[in-house]
Amino acid sequence: MNKNIVCKFGGTSLASSENITKVKEIVLQDKKRFVIVSAPGKRNKEDVKLTDCLINCFKLSKSGEDFSDSFNAFKTRFEDIKKDFDLDFDLTPYFDDLYKHIEEHKDYDYVVSRGEFFSARLISLFFGYEFLDAASFITFAKDGSVELETTKQKFNSIVEAGKCYVIPGFYGQDYKGNIKTFSRGGSDVSGAIVAAIADAPVYENWTDVDGFLVTDPKLCKNPLLIEELSYHELRELSYMGANVLHQDCAKFLRENDIVLNLRNTFNPTCKGSLIMPDSKKIKHKKLTGIAGQKGFTIIHIEKFDINESLGIIEKVANIFKKYNISIEHIPTGIDSVSIIVKSYFINSTNSKDLLDDIYSQIKPDKLEIIENVALISVVGSLLRSDKDAERQVFESFFKSNAKIITLNKGAGGISIIFGVPESEFETTIQTLYSSLF
Ligand code: ASP
Repeated sequence: MNKNIVCKFGGTSLASSENITKVKEIVLQDKKRFVIVSAPGKRNKEDVKLTDCLINCFKLSKSGEDFSDSFNAFKTRFEDIKKDFDLDFDLTPYFDDLYKHIEEHKDYDYVVSRGEFFSARLISLFFGYEFLDAASFITFAKDGSVELETTKQKFNSIVEAGKCYVIPGFYGQDYKGNIKTFSRGGSDVSGAIVAAIADAPVYENWTDVDGFLVTDPKLCKNPLLIEELSYHELRELSYMGANVLHQDCAKFLRENDIVLNLRNTFNPTCKGSLIMPDSKKIKHKKLTGIAGQKGFTIIHIEKFDINESLGIIEKVANIFKKYNISIEHIPTGIDSVSIIVKSYFINSTNSKDLLDDIYSQIKPDKLEIIENVALISVVGSLLRSDKDAERQVFESFFKSNAKIITLNKGAGGISIIFGVPESEFETTIQTLYSSLF
């Protein structure tokens, strides 16, 4: 038994009996000890993920509508898995209990967590592993954060030497003893927590892609795989839209010095991507990736000598805070401040009131709104110190002929962020990719 390996399988890896059989092969090959599972996902484009099925049942029931179609779709998926693997387990009392909760529309988190619960129950039997309910050890504090110490103590008091476990992802128990889920995609976080409390050297996260790609495959054909990257680089890339993992994972893994290995259930010979807690351990000397997003707006404020006015940034930030708008970046000049925000904030706020507040409190000489901005981030720890790498990024950018609306790199920063017109987004990423990688 490989006692320290913690692995998590996502919804697509568990969508059908055929896929679950592939997962069994992967798990039993080196007898991985802790297996965290998601709810079965889509078998094809038209299919539904079972978590969405449960959400739908709850919504329908709450609005007094018939939820039997969705409920039966949920039941049938698990009944089929049970039948395909000839498992001896009576699902009826569990289905009845779930039905009752939906009918009385109570305990929403309990209801939506049942996809993972049934998944882990049946898969543990099929693998010949123990079932370990996440609610028996993952503990949430009052403020919604995970109490890692308590979680670890409970886990250690349950887990027995020499035994292997299948654990449902996505949920734990709150301080009152009720089931509480993470946000969507949260089985990644459950896996990271188990890796942290089991002192695992590596957390294998099995999905349906080979690993992290250098850039978006929808924009560049067959981009290279990133073999190694740091959690810091991962966060920079995810922040800019490259989302494969739940963003709360990194916290538990980084603090506990655990390497994350992203793998593909459907191509298990590919070694995937390794995400390292310490960028110094990464051997290669390359840039890491390019990510980007459209949909930003810049509020550009011009005022003579603005940088000499004490507390001006705080004043501007407080105006945006009043309207619940998060600020992405604030590039400043001697006589100007640009506030970069996601456009949907501006579209969904009363922007006239926001601008009135800026006029009355900042008294700008000029105020300009620049819409339809895309941000593109070139990421790599190299950018912290390597002048050549920096030069290459700028040379490649200029080949694209895109207009720079804004530019951002912090001191010691590991990314250079270009703000360009949305119409030039795709071609800029393509040019950067082809000349940098
Ligand atoms: N089943 C949950 C979701 O669909 C959690 C997960 O799959 O990670 O969000």
